[in-house]
Amino acid sequence: MYDFVIIGGGIIGMSTAMQLAGEYPDAQILLLEKESGAARHQTGHNSGVIHAGVYYTPGSLKAKFCLEGNRATKAFCDEHGIRYDTCGKLLVATNDVEMQRMQALWDRTAANGLEREWLSAQALREREPNIIGLGGIYVPSSGIVNYAEVTRQMATEFTRKGGVIRYNSEVTALDERAEEVVVTTTSGIYQGRFLISCSGLMADRVVRMLGLEPEFQICPFRGEYYLLPHVHNQIVNHLIYPIPDPAMPFLGVHLTRMIDGTVTVGPNAVLALKREGYKKNDFSLVDMFEIFTSHGVLKVLKANFKPGLIEMRNSIFKRGYLKQVQKYCPSISKDDLKPFPAGVRAQAISNSGKLIDDFLFVNTKRSVNVCNAPSPAATSAIPIGAYIVSTVKGQVGKRVFFTADNIDKGTSSGSAVKGS
Ligand SMILES: Cc1cc2nc3c(=O)[nH]c(=O)nc-3n(C[C@H](O)[C@H](O)[C@H](O)COP(=O)(O)OP(=O)(O)OC[C@H]3O[C@@H](n4cnc5c(N)ncnc54)[C@H](O)[C@@H]3O)c2cc1C
Repeated sequence: MYDFVIIGGGIIGMSTAMQLAGEYPDAQILLLEKESGAARHQTGHNSGVIHAGVYYTPGSLKAKFCLEGNRATKAFCDEHGIRYDTCGKLLVATNDVEMQRMQALWDRTAANGLEREWLSAQALREREPNIIGLGGIYVPSSGIVNYAEVTRQMATEFTRKGGVIRYNSEVTALDERAEEVVVTTTSGIYQGRFLISCSGLMADRVVRMLGLEPEFQICPFRGEYYLLPHVHNQIVNHLIYPIPDPAMPFLGVHLTRMIDGTVTVGPNAVLALKREGYKKNDFSLVDMFEIFTSHGVLKVLKANFKPGLIEMRNSIFKRGYLKQVQKYCPSISKDDLKPFPAGVRAQAISNSGKLIDDFLFVNTKRSVNVCNAPSPAATSAIPIGAYIVSTVKGQVGKRVFFTADNIDKGTSSGSAVKGS
């Protein structure tokens, strides 16, 4: 019997596992991951940006965890010798509407406690000779890192503290009982006193396995990128972002310096017809059935019909995609857009038809389930893990966590009282 079973070897699962092992050094902790290694889905297919916390509603979990996560991620990298670069970010307005939206973002960055600088068109040009715009906001604390590398280091820390990871172990059924959760996987059956699910694109399915009817549906949105040729590695000095349309859930195609020195363009946001479908022509009948029979998803698709179609068109025809970048970086040409692997976002949509904006957790007596953890969840993974650990502590109170064996040896923590 394990004290904790964690589902998911992405950055949220690994961060939680690592911190849980630190908090409960004598607990038996098992992490189950269906793939053959860590960070094979969202965590290994993202922009690698350590976000500062520009966009998020003040007071939301996203705003709080992103700000904390920005510092915590850098501190973790410092501690473990992982390369990152605090290169800063520029938000660029290219027309009057965007200038107005930029003012709103400026106010929001103040509410979110960020250091930032307002740039005139001239100041913008001085910082970024290849970027044009009417003005911009400079946010110095944004950075870049390889989140797969961060996650692998978290896995090392977890196992060093005694945690067990089983790869190639897909959870296929769950049975929550009074004293345990029985976890059936493709590699065997495990029992845990407490379950934590960090299953990303499969979050709603895991909740369903617990016998709950989730009030949301995970909708996959593919984010497609292009890579610029190496001659353009110095085209920008910072991360360059457009001013987002507040009606749209994603940030818009941006120019991202990657930690390996290359520069990517993207990502867009196209409805994916398969949850883990990284290619344009990937589809799954099961996934499509779920998407197109969900009242909430259909409502969102209907409300965003036109922008959705434009995204699809720009996904098929490079020219439209290119236009979005040329708005602020006119020197990039069509031939500069080289293929680069896409990512798929897990975006929860409520049954009533709203894109769920904030991080969302669904708890039962013996489980915590991360149900919506889109961007900036990689940046926020350390505070999210800490939050889960504190939730678990509150939820389990003084219930049994350690095996009789440990308690007999006197190695269990003072707060864990057998049988209470
Ligand atoms: C295109 C794109 C760009 C992004 N850019 C950024 C960025 O720049 N900065 C940022 O902070 N965030 C960014 N994000 C968001 C960030 O990548 C995610 O929020 C974060 O990686 C989520 O981590 P996770 O552990 O929840 O999910 P995942 O990394 O998807 O991990 C979930 C894991 O659970 C496993 N799993 C699922 N079901 C089961 C099962 N039944 N049994 C066993 N294992 C299972 C999966 O195999 C997977 O490994 C981006 C995301 C995308 C897609």
